[in-house]
Amino acid sequence: MPQGTLFIVSAPSGAGKTSLVRELVESLDGLQVSVSHTTRERRQGEVNGVNYHFVAVADFEAMIERGEFFEYARVFDNYYGTSQSSVQAMLAAGQDVILEIDWQGARQVRRQLPDAVSIFILPPSREELERRLASRGTDEHAVIERRMREAVEEMSHHDEYAYLVINDDFTTALRELQSLVIARRLTLARMRERHGPLLASLLSRTPGVE
Ligand code: GDP
Ligand code: ADP
Ligand code: 5GP
Repeated sequence: MPQGTLFIVSAPSGAGKTSLVRELVESLDGLQVSVSHTTRERRQGEVNGVNYHFVAVADFEAMIERGEFFEYARVFDNYYGTSQSSVQAMLAAGQDVILEIDWQGARQVRRQLPDAVSIFILPPSREELERRLASRGTDEHAVIERRMREAVEEMSHHDEYAYLVINDDFTTALRELQSLVIARRLTLARMRERHGPLLASLLSRTPGVE
């Protein structure tokens, strides 16, 4: 069975990464999002095991010790990480997988899987980013200010990514993300993996013989 493709999606907090990825995964078959582990507090409405696996710092550090992370990083004083098991099984089953991770994690993934497709999502303006962070209503004022400052740092890494998507109009940004996933599925390498028998029969010199 051909391996799935790994997509890395990064963005400053509030750019719309989580909302876009949720719709993207709903709109396409064969595409799943990896559920990260984190030590940050659960926001209202977030469900353990769905949005994140929420764990204590000691548990996260024990997982680091046991080498269970594919990648991990400290973001806003919390640990965030992708466990090996959440990714490898899905890829091996031929599923495409999205990692919603920060730039530090993206670097670790590219080192291990140079074939991963990396996408950076930008807000249409600073003012709009601030408005979205505030309107989400899940973070305290001090947290929003902190995330706004860190946003500029995160965005300074946009040039390490192969693709940039500006999330101004949500539907347009979603369509652009869908295009990237679909285009990747149509590359020569992927098509050969999936359509070997068709290609063989089309190229056969003797009709009916492969
Ligand atoms: P959001 O930015 O508002 O979605 O807030 P989150 O608390 O969900 O994410 C905080 C940061 O951690 C973001 O930069 C994420 O991309 C990053 N992040 C989330 N999960 C992972 C992960 O598994 N690994 C890494 N390296 N970063 C992650
Ligand atoms: P992130 O995961 O990048 O932190 P979210 O997906 O939580 O971002 O989005 C932040 C807020 O902005 C949410 O309230 C979301 O509904 C809103 N949002 C996302 N994309 C758009 C858009 N294109 N136009 C207006 N609001 C948006
Ligand atoms: P939030 O706390 O708002 O959910 O996420 C804050 C940041 O952490 C986001 O920029 C998100 O991309 C990043 N993040 C979430 N999960 C992971 C992860 O598993 N690994 C890494 N490296 N970053 C993550």
